[in-house]
Amino acid sequence: MMESSARPRRLWLRDPLAILADGAGGGLVVEGSRIAEVVAAGARPARPVDATFDASRHVVIPGLVNTHHHFFQTLTRAHPAAINKPLFPWLMALYGIWPRLTPDAFRLATRLAYTELLLSGCTTAGDHHYLFPKGLENAVDIQVEEARSLGIRAVVTRGSMSLSEKDGGLPPETLVQDDDAILTDSERVLRLFHDPAPGAMVQIGLAPCSPFAVTKRLMRESAGLAERFDCRLHTHLGETLDENAYCLEAFGQRPVDYLEEVGWMTRRAWLAHGIHFNDDEVRRLGAAGVGVCHCPASNMVLASGQCRTCELEAAGSPVGLGVDGSASSDSSNLMEGVRHALMINRLTYGAEAVTHLDALRWATEGSAACLGRDDIGRIAPGREADLALFTLDELRFSGAHDPLAALVLCGAHRADRVMVAGAWRVIDGEPLGIETGRLREEHSRLARHLFGTA
Ligand SMILES: [Zn+2]
Repeated sequence: MMESSARPRRLWLRDPLAILADGAGGGLVVEGSRIAEVVAAGARPARPVDATFDASRHVVIPGLVNTHHHFFQTLTRAHPAAINKPLFPWLMALYGIWPRLTPDAFRLATRLAYTELLLSGCTTAGDHHYLFPKGLENAVDIQVEEARSLGIRAVVTRGSMSLSEKDGGLPPETLVQDDDAILTDSERVLRLFHDPAPGAMVQIGLAPCSPFAVTKRLMRESAGLAERFDCRLHTHLGETLDENAYCLEAFGQRPVDYLEEVGWMTRRAWLAHGIHFNDDEVRRLGAAGVGVCHCPASNMVLASGQCRTCELEAAGSPVGLGVDGSASSDSSNLMEGVRHALMINRLTYGAEAVTHLDALRWATEGSAACLGRDDIGRIAPGREADLALFTLDELRFSGAHDPLAALVLCGAHRADRVMVAGAWRVIDGEPLGIETGRLREEHSRLARHLFGTA
């Protein structure tokens, strides 16, 4: 029988230079969208294959999983209004210009961020979109369309802001929606796009933005909706000391007490940043299984602080990695994020406690656990065939000995090949179906036009 697509039925990725998987020195066999078997060094697959791919130049790792981003911010990278500021002044500067976002610009920003992520070896892209100015009511629809067209796995969270300055929040009136409009649209996008099944290419989560940008009612009702639709909950929490001070002043409670009061101490929830927690809060978050997405680049750029990754993991919280929005990390490169995670955690915990394998594990299995997924994040039989393949053919790797350590320590940042659900999406370092030069030109033109200062 002829295959309807170019994808062979059983493909053996043979004899990789190195691979991040147990007992897989001889590579792995992909069948359909999944990994059918791993092959021991020197062995052959248990059953015949239709095609082989010689991976002897490649270091093979599970596709990286990004658990926090704001794609639209690619349009306001390194913006003079916001650079060299901590979170609150940074946000106030950008709130002033973000209402200019248009659907066309948002579509290109989304395409660009997915492409950047994919090229960095990321196969599941999470985004937290919380900006719905007039005309951009269908932002989630745009993100789903773009993910489908690129073939990247997506976890799009329907973000929201409903507490404006006049009600004691931080965002301006122009950027908030009312709770009912948000909840109605959340339900709409869950019905349209959310697939809770294993192997899902698109999932929707609910993501009220932060304690200083939404009402408690919205937090509570979002948690109820998440139960009904079996989806994840996501928000920013514990990012800065300013946020702690805001919560104490506005609610008379610290952020974790706030989270508990609104019913979010649940395995469904994962938090962006999760930095300023005390020992008791770490214990409570861990016991509840609340996940934390560590965003090292953004935390260093905004000088927000150092996430207590090791204590959180020890307490029981899944810990994953995120690049965070491109106005604070200025890049959407998750492989660079792995390196940043290694470096900042070395500073926190010392040179022996956190290894390159820990940093890779956060970006793969850890991130998958934050998203509540056990079908991605590892190279093992039965898992989805989401893979990133890097060569060590650049000058920066010359002289490196341990190939997996070299990826992290020498600064790998562009995959040679990326496979999502058994299909190649990047070949020879180029994304299939995207002209990167044209995309960059159109995206940067709109960024200048909408947000330029000249
Ligand atoms: Zn963020």
